Amino acid sequence: MKIFCVGRNYVDHIRELANEKPDQPVIFMKPETALVKNNEPVYHPEFTNDLHFETEVVLKVCKEGKYIQPKLANRYFDSIGLGIDFTARDIQSTLKAKGLPWEISKAFNQSAPVSGFIPVSGFPDPANLNFHLDVNGIRRQTGNTSLMLFSFTEILVFISTYFTIKPGDLIFTGTPAGVGKVEIGDRLQGLLEDRSMFDFSIL
Ligand code: MG
Repeated sequence: MKIFCVGRNYVDHIRELANEKPDQPVIFMKPETALVKNNEPVYHPEFTNDLHFETEVVLKVCKEGKYIQPKLANRYFDSIGLGIDFTARDIQSTLKAKGLPWEISKAFNQSAPVSGFIPVSGFPDPANLNFHLDVNGIRRQTGNTSLMLFSFTEILVFISTYFTIKPGDLIFTGTPAGVGKVEIGDRLQGLLEDRSMFDFSIL
């Protein structure tokens, strides 16, 4: 399976990192070894001093497709979860400044914890979903999918132009503002429309 991630998809997050607003989706990938499920703990990697959380709504692909047409895009995902796109911000900043690929700062082991998935039919409007991250009981990120620069449809159309998507692939759809550093011992709790989605610790 493949894990796709969309960068720079919320304007308030683009501003906080002083990035440019993209004119097409910014896509990168993580390998399967990045996945963490079932609220298993995440071990803080030794190679970074600035491990950041980025809370993101995650789509699960249910159908193989390429060159997906916009009007059919919503047939290609059937469930929605919440995840963290962990980022070694110190390493990413160095790589970005040099114009180099940023995989080692984004795609390392355990960089993609995900919740369980809820059928799309469980939400009145996937394009208007509230989500939150609490760290040690304090609210750190709040987002709503209506604020994405590129919609789920636009993301699926774009990704499938370059990559065949297959059932089980995951798409992280970008993070709102409020990203920040985690420390060993922190507890991360994610909520989607007030449903508890994940609850895990950094060890
Ligand atoms: Mg991200």
